[in-house]
Amino acid sequence: MKRAASTPEAIQQEDRYGAHNYHPLPVVLTRGQGVHLWDPEGKRYIDFLSAYSAVNQGHCHPRIISALTEQAQRLTLTSRAFHNDSLGPFCEFVSRTFGYERVLPANGGVEAWEASIKLARKWGYQKKKIPEGRAKIVVCVDNFHGRTMAAVSASTSAESRNEYGPYLPGFVVIPFNDIPALEQALRDPEVVAFNAEPIQGEAGIIVPAPGYLKQVSELCRKAGVLFIADEIQTGIARTGKLLACDHEGVKPDILTLGKALSGGVMPVSAILTSSEIMLCIRPGEHGSTFGGNPLACQVAIAALEVVRDEKLAENSEKMGQIFRQELGSFQHPLVAEVRGKGLMNALVIHPNGNASAWDVCTGLMKNGVLAKPTRDNIIRFTPPLIITEEQIQEGVAAIRKTLGELA
Ligand code: PLP
Repeated sequence: MKRAASTPEAIQQEDRYGAHNYHPLPVVLTRGQGVHLWDPEGKRYIDFLSAYSAVNQGHCHPRIISALTEQAQRLTLTSRAFHNDSLGPFCEFVSRTFGYERVLPANGGVEAWEASIKLARKWGYQKKKIPEGRAKIVVCVDNFHGRTMAAVSASTSAESRNEYGPYLPGFVVIPFNDIPALEQALRDPEVVAFNAEPIQGEAGIIVPAPGYLKQVSELCRKAGVLFIADEIQTGIARTGKLLACDHEGVKPDILTLGKALSGGVMPVSAILTSSEIMLCIRPGEHGSTFGGNPLACQVAIAALEVVRDEKLAENSEKMGQIFRQELGSFQHPLVAEVRGKGLMNALVIHPNGNASAWDVCTGLMKNGVLAKPTRDNIIRFTPPLIITEEQIQEGVAAIRKTLGELA
């Protein structure tokens, strides 16, 4: 057997031959189980990122891996040129789980998001009778929906957008968490949808005011505009409920899911909506070679069963409260704010302090906790939702120790 690469060797090889579109922490991971990850030298870490909330069920969950390996030996891909016997069960299970009439399967998160934009535009032309080519989608400042041309066209981040133009037209940008701005935007009769993350993830865990989502949903309904919730990061129990919109009893017209829909095992994403909206797209008008493949379907069913059977939303709510309480009790000059919902939390590092969020994450890594800054001074803490109180306390102790070392 080939000798496994050491940490410096693996980093050097990736750096030499790979694209430089990420700036990872200098850690190499070779194995994962539950909340834990290991590097080639055998050092163990607690994962407080969960692959950007894709591994909500924990690394290599035995039930999901068993669904994967069983299906992988039977049938992996047929394309949608033919039916397969896993797609129907997936569609029914996912639709029923989230309370929608229909689901469109896709692969990566941004693919689902982009399909939700296409679907809203189709609906606008067919049902709202918007003149062809005029449909507008309202999005929020500091949104993050992925990296395709449509997503960067909707983005307000210079880093995401710069030098990728010309951009796709038809996006109207308003501030997040701003009801008067939404009211104003909805006066335009060419607006077909309002699209937002219920909690802005990449922007630094920006939690809107209580009641915001409810008001959004009511305003959209009154204006005859679709509310599209991008729950690719907030969804699937991350915030302490199955969906973040559930905190306010809101049902978006279109819902996008990804990441934890497969427990981080493979790319699986989905767009959920009503028959009236979904059937605006007819055969041949949208598709994907891998979308709805039997392997993904079986993995997603198992991943959602784990969330239900292991009561991950409840655990996320409970552990999240403990985590925020512990972090909120820190008296430290670097800690400016602790915020979040469920197990989607952020520690804001004082911008004028003697250490950056990157310094804190590097220190955490040495102390056995993996987390990553989002934006310059914010650290996102999103451990797998199977985490126990003891493991939360272990993480909290490492954060306390690291801050102490940086004081
Ligand atoms: N939407 C949201 C809210 C996200 O957080 C992300 C990824 O972080 C995406 C969409 C894009 O998902 P993917 O990276 O799987 O394309």
